[in-house]
Amino acid sequence: MFEQVSQHIFIRKYQHYTDRPNIGLIRGQRRALLFDAGNSEAHTLLLKQELEEAGLPMPDYAALSHWHWDHSFGTAFWGAEVIAGRETDAQLRKMARWQWDDDAMQRRIDAGEEIAFCSDMIKREYPDRSKIRVVGADIVFDGRLTLDLGGVTCELIHAKGPHSSDSVICYVPEDRFVLLGDSNCKDLYGLSWECDIEVEGSFTAATDALEYDPEKVRDYLQLLEGLDFTHCISGHSEVKTRAHQLASLKEVL
Ligand SMILES: [Zn+2]
Repeated sequence: MFEQVSQHIFIRKYQHYTDRPNIGLIRGQRRALLFDAGNSEAHTLLLKQELEEAGLPMPDYAALSHWHWDHSFGTAFWGAEVIAGRETDAQLRKMARWQWDDDAMQRRIDAGEEIAFCSDMIKREYPDRSKIRVVGADIVFDGRLTLDLGGVTCELIHAKGPHSSDSVICYVPEDRFVLLGDSNCKDLYGLSWECDIEVEGSFTAATDALEYDPEKVRDYLQLLEGLDFTHCISGHSEVKTRAHQLASLKEVL
């Protein structure tokens, strides 16, 4: 179910079982933008049904927070203009050529291109992996891109941050709200860790023990401090106040 979190923003809450992240819909008078596309066709079908039930419009744009599969693999199924930062787009075009049989997936884990956690989750989300379709963006930007949806604007900002160098955030100044994607999270691809997705609490225990890169957090924090917002939401957690979010980042410096 999509829940309204501010005047123009609706969030479909994350679903941990197959690592589906929060999906945001920003509704303007003329256009709607989806922030993150979902992790599969099945996920997008559910989202479309829930948008319809809530009387919300189908998105004209689907903008991506970063390349990780859980945010991007639904892209092909929206029929919307796909917007991504240059680095995200480049990675998706590379992944569009990947094979999804067990051997190919294991080779990518061994080579450090993929992590076991995401591989396990992909297998869980896709009973039939021939259904995986990865596509690049229609609109690619560097730095910042501002979209006027009619009475509300979305500023897509290449924020980088500690999680992934391609991370883009979606700032909605009229609502004083920021959708962070995973940008504020730890670098799950760069650090060494493992968990068993069948064991409750294993993911949290493993990732809680990981360290942030303070250099990356410092620059990222400076960017967030420069934005006028009161609330924000990260990819896999609840809405937080500005004070709470900034304090939790300052803690790691
Ligand atoms: Zn991620």
